[in-house]
Amino acid sequence: MHRETVFIGFGSNVGDRIDFCDRAVTLLSLLPHSQVVGVSLLYESEPVNDHAQPGDGWFLNGVVQLETDVTPKSLLSILREIERSLGRDEEDRSGPRTIDLDILFYDQLIINEPDLVVPHPRMHQRRFVLMPLSELDPLFVHPILHRTSSQLLAEVGKQPEVRLLFPQPSTRYGSRQACSPPPGS
Ligand code: ADP
Ligand code: MG
Repeated sequence: MHRETVFIGFGSNVGDRIDFCDRAVTLLSLLPHSQVVGVSLLYESEPVNDHAQPGDGWFLNGVVQLETDVTPKSLLSILREIERSLGRDEEDRSGPRTIDLDILFYDQLIINEPDLVVPHPRMHQRRFVLMPLSELDPLFVHPILHRTSSQLLAEVGKQPEVRLLFPQPSTRYGSRQACSPPPGS
């Protein structure tokens, strides 16, 4: 079966941020027709008020790498479902968020639809995305900019600040090895 490589960015800046990130990764690992093949470390980043007003809380951010044959549209609605189940405030989507899930890349696909733009249009300007992404796949090529994630990271501004969370939580899902594929898959 042919599966696409997908990168999903996650972020949380309110409440028990580690727990929200952990639950989001766990829910992603349970998706049918999909397998989580990588989870980045957790990064802490200063909130950016570029187009949203997420408040003062620092974010925890990371990236999940998925092999999947769920279509981009279905994946987006699954992500929104997970956001809802983790208590994201639908009335104030641009405010502080328990969890934000974004499709960064869907293999080399380019999508320009009103509710879905892939690659994510702001990812290459965001250090908090490029750091965990480069950790997982430094040579993944952006299908529009034709630059690898590590090149994009080298070119992005040093501000606002992003740092590795230290210490990393020891119990988080992502610190364990991804499970091996079922036999015959
Ligand atoms: P942001 O993540 O940019 O702060 P939201 O999480 O509130 O903003 O997302 C707003 C809308 O962005 C979502 O309803 C979704 O339809 C749309 N969207 C467009 N492209 C993407 C993408 N690649 N990943 C996730 N959402 C996207
Ligand atoms: Mg989002």
